[in-house]
Amino acid sequence: ELGKRAPRWIRDNEVTMCMKCKEPFNALTRRRHHCRACGHVVCWKCSDYKAHLEYDGNKLNKVCKDCYHVIIGCTDSEEKKKKGILEIESAEVSGNSVICSFLQYMEKSKPWQKAWCVIPKQEALVLYMYGAPQDVKALATIPLLGYTVDDTPRSADLPHSFKLTQSKSVHSFAADNEELKQKWLKVIHLAVKGETPECQNELQVN
Ligand SMILES: [Zn+2]
Ligand SMILES: [Zn+2]
Repeated sequence: ELGKRAPRWIRDNEVTMCMKCKEPFNALTRRRHHCRACGHVVCWKCSDYKAHLEYDGNKLNKVCKDCYHVIIGCTDSEEKKKKGILEIESAEVSGNSVICSFLQYMEKSKPWQKAWCVIPKQEALVLYMYGAPQDVKALATIPLLGYTVDDTPRSADLPHSFKLTQSKSVHSFAADNEELKQKWLKVIHLAVKGETPECQNELQVN
């Protein structure tokens, strides 16, 4: 198993390219580094990770991307930061959210669409919008801080709608009922001021 024993060290001259990203090595910008877990020769980019290795008294060692994921178990928050902001799985944030439910959503003059909206506990000032509750990538995110909340319904057709505005950006939402709208507003009113809202999770609609 990874990290339990010292790996067979692939020698520098056994490879001409990074064993992960396959980019050729050169003397200046892409030099050889060793992953201390698998012994592969990789570039600095692909070895810019550290993990505790058992064979080395659990000290932090330079490891490659793949080993890092295996050893860390893919749950480290550092890794999430390296991913794009939208590449957060819906199921993951929804399971640990301040609030989540379907809302109708409209941006500018685009048509209304149903979106699975989530404010994660870990990031309670950001609204994540997904096409569906199990999507692995968000459609959009709205950093709520500084937005103005307008809870006047847009029209009689959408009695439970509300709007978030900040300079030129306008996001319109509509809930299915007034209770749902009020729960969202309670959370959003705090988030736009930079305050962490209280968990509304009893609301969770799956
Ligand atoms: Zn590489
Ligand atoms: Zn490795």
